[in-house]
Amino acid sequence: MSTALVWFRDDLRLTDNPTIADAVAAAGTVVPVYVVDPRRRGEGRYGADKLGPHRAQFRRESLADLRSSLRERGGELFVRRGRAENVLPDLAEQVGADMLYTQTKPATEERTREHRVRAALPDDVAVERRWTHTLYHVADLPTPYESIEDTFTPWRKTVENEATVREPVAAPEAVTTPTLDPGEIPTLAALDIEEPPSDERGVLPFNGGESAGKKRVQEYIWEGDHLREYKQTRNGLLGADYSSKVAAWLAAGCLSPRWLHGEVKRYEDERVENEDTYWLVFELLWRDFFQFQFCKHGGDFFTESGIRNVDKAWEQDRTAFRRWADGETGVPFVDANMRELNRTGYMSNRGRQNVASFLVDALGIDWRWGAAYFEQQLVDYDVASNWGNWAYQAGVGNDSRDNHFDVLSQAEYYDDDAAYVQTWLPELDGLPPQETHRPWRLSEREQAEYGVALGVDYPRPMLDIEARYDELNG
Ligand SMILES: Cc1cc2nc3c(=O)[nH]c(=O)nc-3n(C[C@H](O)[C@H](O)[C@H](O)COP(=O)(O)OP(=O)(O)OC[C@H]3O[C@@H](n4cnc5c(N)ncnc54)[C@H](O)[C@@H]3O)c2cc1C
Repeated sequence: MSTALVWFRDDLRLTDNPTIADAVAAAGTVVPVYVVDPRRRGEGRYGADKLGPHRAQFRRESLADLRSSLRERGGELFVRRGRAENVLPDLAEQVGADMLYTQTKPATEERTREHRVRAALPDDVAVERRWTHTLYHVADLPTPYESIEDTFTPWRKTVENEATVREPVAAPEAVTTPTLDPGEIPTLAALDIEEPPSDERGVLPFNGGESAGKKRVQEYIWEGDHLREYKQTRNGLLGADYSSKVAAWLAAGCLSPRWLHGEVKRYEDERVENEDTYWLVFELLWRDFFQFQFCKHGGDFFTESGIRNVDKAWEQDRTAFRRWADGETGVPFVDANMRELNRTGYMSNRGRQNVASFLVDALGIDWRWGAAYFEQQLVDYDVASNWGNWAYQAGVGNDSRDNHFDVLSQAEYYDDDAAYVQTWLPELDGLPPQETHRPWRLSEREQAEYGVALGVDYPRPMLDIEARYDELNG
């Protein structure tokens, strides 16, 4: 009887996970293992940590959930600490493994790790890699990823017309694992990471794991019946249901995009099919687009001049950057969003576009600092989605137009009653909504009347943002 190691990475699920499904089908005994690798945390790029408290907590919960799902099927999740290329060959020897099954991902660090593991394993251990992170399988793309278009719309149209989404794969019913020390899922303290703050203003409690991810989909799509209005609400800022909030579960692989797509199709069959229901699939195509762009361009996505080699002079002003990161710029819409991110690990898509544009367009600060900060803070950080969207916003990625967001008019449009800003900046909640987004216009007398002193209760703006937009708008 053969034995297969199953190395879990960003695929912490059993439903629609061909890696474990194929391993169970091929081997009598499987050894599901997660390696807590020190290189996934600690100091990353540009002074930010690679892994902040929100995502660390989410991953811990995801591992606990995966372990209990495996135990329900008679198996176990083995957790080991160390470098994957050391841990996995040792384990392979200990259990006499014939095969190693694992997820493969497009990003450079992940690929490097995979190659090192393969090199460190004895030659008689066959390595089986499975592509499980996207809606469309890489092998089903009409054009090989090396030569796909760099622009979203033509790429999307070709894929929609010429490719099909594969059927999700069922979770294994029974899993046979050997008797070994299961190993502890390390606490955050053991990883030297602080506990994340808890804040009741957060849009959702983001509990990690496949069970919590499925529960979120059940609540959002089925019980709340929100999919029928998804496109109309997705630019919202407050509350659980203006968008799907599934990104964190997709990023850790607790949910598969194909399974989610299947839920959308079922909803369309059983309830309603309209532009809004399609739009969730459209957004999943954006996600796929960045994944395949990463396959194509690799490490170029992390360079200053990006995949298009755009020469721009970026400011390297640490003090200004810190004000942005801390939500202390004095521009309420930016600060409210950054404070939400810092407290909860989440920010709406509208918010992300605006704070990113503020950093790169209004302040002209190195876009990679912003991307690295998001990498640390986001509960749903995904290497391709994050660096791809940042590069896009900075004008060095998949968009050749140099578009900036005017955060003041965006705030007045999307937060016209200032409810969002006043939620995250309670020091401004005495202001009439129409005064809230530009508090620098208040006279001393008005400040006294509304109970806010600029420079004391809330910062004065770090730049003359109205003049800056006049300049950018030409
Ligand atoms: C500067 C910046 C950084 C970002 N960083 C990340 C990141 O690290 N991880 C991440 O998952 N998304 C990222 N996004 C994309 C998007 O903002 C989030 O996916 C979305 O806000 C998550 O909320 P949701 O799950 O409710 O999304 P929904 O609006 O409900 O969308 C459904 C799903 O589609 C995908 N999706 C939607 N928009 C995009 C997009 N523009 N690019 C890629 N996928 C998308 C996500 O998987 C999302 O969960 C970033 C966007 C910007 C502008």
